[in-house]
Amino acid sequence: MDAGRAAGRRDDRLTVPAAAGPAQRLRAALGAVPRVGLAALPTPLQPMPRLTAHLDGPRLWVKRDDLTAGALGGGNKLRKLDVLLAEALREGADTLVSGGVVQSNSQRQVASAAARLGLDCHLAVFHGRVAAPGPAYDEGGNALLVRLFGATLHAVPWTGDRHGAIAGLADALRMRGRRPYVVPYGASSGPGAAGYASAALEIADQSAAAGFEPAAIVHCTGSAGTQAGLAVGAHACLPRTRVVGIDIDAEPARVAADVRRLADAAATVLGVDRVPPEAIEVVAGHSGPGYGVAHAATHEAMRVAGRLEGLVLDPVYAGKGLAGLISLVRAGRWRRDDDVVFVHTGGEPALFAYPSPFAPGG
Ligand SMILES: *Cc1c(COP(=O)(O)O)cnc(C)c1O
Repeated sequence: MDAGRAAGRRDDRLTVPAAAGPAQRLRAALGAVPRVGLAALPTPLQPMPRLTAHLDGPRLWVKRDDLTAGALGGGNKLRKLDVLLAEALREGADTLVSGGVVQSNSQRQVASAAARLGLDCHLAVFHGRVAAPGPAYDEGGNALLVRLFGATLHAVPWTGDRHGAIAGLADALRMRGRRPYVVPYGASSGPGAAGYASAALEIADQSAAAGFEPAAIVHCTGSAGTQAGLAVGAHACLPRTRVVGIDIDAEPARVAADVRRLADAAATVLGVDRVPPEAIEVVAGHSGPGYGVAHAATHEAMRVAGRLEGLVLDPVYAGKGLAGLISLVRAGRWRRDDDVVFVHTGGEPALFAYPSPFAPGG
């Protein structure tokens, strides 16, 4: 961890010249946002030549945001948490509070971050949003890891209200004299989304170094902070690149509204231009029967990623995101000389909480 950043110190060398272009302004703004420095950045951008050949479509690349802190402690939430937890430390918090489903990657990253920062961690675990698909769901995968990282778990029924139970838990802790910092559902807020804009800047730098300009950045979207950050970042540093979110929540209208709101808030945090509404694209139709329920297209995406690229995708997020990308490629959305970046947002542990899609002998 970078000690200067851990203390939330601003880098005062980064004064922005008035005539700076949007990309320079973004770079300077991101450099000035206080960050804890938990994420190991930049994450690699790697070609996927065998998947490209298999699909006979555009050149495909993968941005390895599953590797922000090793596959079991990292993922896309860590860029957001780096910014949010700098605020928690400034406020003198002694406890992190958040919530999510039993197999939440976000909670796992919050619990891991709390362990690294020496903070307590209390999590509201929503039961009932996803029917347990198999015996490992309640105890394996992310559920095992949050316990390994020492979080205290509070079971609450899923009511559809993502935020209420988290706020209630924070209130209860405050009554007991704790100083809780609330990490919002999915670590998605304006500052969290601003933290994710760094991924767009890395893709801009890495693709330029590799000699291409992406036609699109494709990723799965849920609590919307990832897409909001990518959209704000790309608008500044890759203005011709389309950011395409694949809805995995089976709530595309809610997701699109949240992306819009969080993108505006993130642009304000960073002091960069707002994203025009037409630049926000949430693709429906790839969430299968519902959130957290894998279907045949998810399993096919997981299979080809594994067999052709040695990549591990999970059945809840990245598998569905790649299923959406494969479907767009097959529908002819891009030319063969286009370059398309898939963001691997992490989520590997959930793979081990779901029944295997690979039947013995299959
Ligand atoms: C949370 C998550 C997403 C979605 O990111 P949001 O910012 O919530 O939209 C995608 N992939 C994985 C693995 C996640 O854990």
